[in-house]
Amino acid sequence: MKALLALSKSWFRPKTITSIFFHSKSFSYRSETCIISLIHASRTSRQLREIHAQILISNLFSSSRVTTQFISSCSLLKSINYAFAIFEQYQDKNLFVCNALIRGLCENDEFEGAIYFFGLMLRLNVRPDQLTFPFILKSAAALLLAKLGDCLHGAILKFGLEFDSFVRVSLVDMYVKVEKLGSVLKLFDETPQTIKRRSILLWNVSINGCCKMGDLDKAGELFEGMPEKNVGSWNTLINGFARNGDMNAARELFNQMKEKNVVSWTTMIKGFSQNGEHREALSFFSRMLEEGVSPNDLTIVSALSACAKIGALEAGIQIHNYISNSGFFITKSIGNALVDMYAKCGKIEAASEVFSNMKQKDLLTWSIMLWGRAIHGHHGQVLRGFEQMKSTGLRPDSVVFLAILTACSHTGQVHAGLRFFNSMRYEYAIEPTMKHYALVIDLLGRAGRLDEAMEFVQSMPVAPDFVIWGALFCACRAHKNIKMAELVSDKLLQLESKHPGSYVFLSNVYATVGRWDDVERVRILMQRSGVEKDPGCSYIEVDGQVHSFVAGDQDHKQAKDIYVKLEEIMSGARKEGYVPETDWVLHNIEEEEKEESLGRHSEKLALAFGLISTAPGATIRIVKNLRICGDCHFIMKCASKMSQREIVLRDLKRFHHFRNGTCSCGDFW
Ligand code: ZN
Ligand code: ZN
Repeated sequence: MKALLALSKSWFRPKTITSIFFHSKSFSYRSETCIISLIHASRTSRQLREIHAQILISNLFSSSRVTTQFISSCSLLKSINYAFAIFEQYQDKNLFVCNALIRGLCENDEFEGAIYFFGLMLRLNVRPDQLTFPFILKSAAALLLAKLGDCLHGAILKFGLEFDSFVRVSLVDMYVKVEKLGSVLKLFDETPQTIKRRSILLWNVSINGCCKMGDLDKAGELFEGMPEKNVGSWNTLINGFARNGDMNAARELFNQMKEKNVVSWTTMIKGFSQNGEHREALSFFSRMLEEGVSPNDLTIVSALSACAKIGALEAGIQIHNYISNSGFFITKSIGNALVDMYAKCGKIEAASEVFSNMKQKDLLTWSIMLWGRAIHGHHGQVLRGFEQMKSTGLRPDSVVFLAILTACSHTGQVHAGLRFFNSMRYEYAIEPTMKHYALVIDLLGRAGRLDEAMEFVQSMPVAPDFVIWGALFCACRAHKNIKMAELVSDKLLQLESKHPGSYVFLSNVYATVGRWDDVERVRILMQRSGVEKDPGCSYIEVDGQVHSFVAGDQDHKQAKDIYVKLEEIMSGARKEGYVPETDWVLHNIEEEEKEESLGRHSEKLALAFGLISTAPGATIRIVKNLRICGDCHFIMKCASKMSQREIVLRDLKRFHHFRNGTCSCGDFW
């Protein structure tokens, strides 16, 4: 509450009021109605200030209607401090004025403020009405204050507003947001039939609640029982299936819809993208445009995100062209999505261009850009960008430091990396997370400073977890320090039970220290507990079509030609001194681990396909969902030399630019 009071004081800036008396044009509007329509029509806060002066001259601020409209317009123009100052000055704090302020605060995401003024309103004995509660409930929900929500429910009963349909919908919606499904359903069941028949929104909100809590059967039951459905009802259930990972059911429902709107399409596109079906997301996006439906911001962002995930550069460029040609306003979220797409599709220059043209950049924008440069190994640019970002007045957050540390780690800048890491806590008061610690170990480990890495782990103020020991283990293995690897593996094994998903890693640990019985034991354990590894998968875009490959893939139309080409590459590589690195079969952490699959890893298949289906000299771009293994890395280098092509490969960790037999990562990844 103290914080709230301080907040309320900081909002009150008398300067805003006293500095209003400036160069007002000579208005002759005197009547209340006239002023109200003027306030209503104002589009900038400067216009509002001019009207403010007139109101003071005509002494119209005693009018409740004028004050209410003024506060509403201030909030609409995002001048919430101004609205607050007006409210403070107004003597008669009645229901209308209070409602206008609470609504304004809520719509400007100042939820704590809204709740604070609701309390003030009650203390002033102003009786809230059906227009007050929806905004207070929304504020409580936004802050996830379930207890306050319950109290508000009680207050609604006390003030006799429980049968107002708008209040009721808001109440149900609040329970949905604080995830109290029992209360949602109870309220729904207790709702009189007259309201149920009238309010489709009540049904939609309740269905959304069931979907959110994963009760799709109940959601379907409510949907079937609706006296009348609107597009929103369909969209809600489709979204429910999508967020619960059932895209088949979502698609079926979508196909049954007679009238689809942009939200229906966007829900499908976003759903496919979130469930890893990026190609399907993009094909839905094209279909949507073909059917003449105009996308909204979210559609564009979802489609761009799908492009980014699978490296569909051509599709991404087409979307960018579409945005430019159709006069779409590049909002911050679209700008961010474009920068992300170009960076992840390997076009870091294009990402920089979009970034420079963006008028508004927030911390997220900078993080995406810095991260993009970091995974491309552009260390200097990351550090310069970091300084630029600070000069705009933004304070770095922990995500920005992940990018910085990654950049330092990828380029072996140990000293700089440690300096940044220390500055986090001492200069910016940011507590490092496990991810930051893991990056520092990576940084020291890559440079072969294993003892320091070990000391660092032991001096961590929090207990090192599986990821931390894992990073140290990788470093030991890379530098073939078996003694320390054994020590670290002991630590890893102690943590085994807590991380069932790390079986593959563990079997590698055992293999490294030669405990083959344990390798077998973990393998059986893995089978029994049904742990499935994320299958390695590579994507390549040819003529705007994205092709995907898994290890040993035979499903592709041109499978025969692909394997012929692959054999050609391999025999060429053998002449260059290639020996299969069977080490990777066992040791590579996340990869396809079967021995016979080494020669057929998905990225090798994508490479072969790229070579036979693109023009000589064209750059080949591949995206792999896991880390590239050493064997494939070697083959890529050979292939870039033999074919005289640039190969750009993005793996889980970074970009590799292969040119004339070398890689931009300097074999360091
Ligand atoms: Zn491989
Ligand atoms: Zn590389």
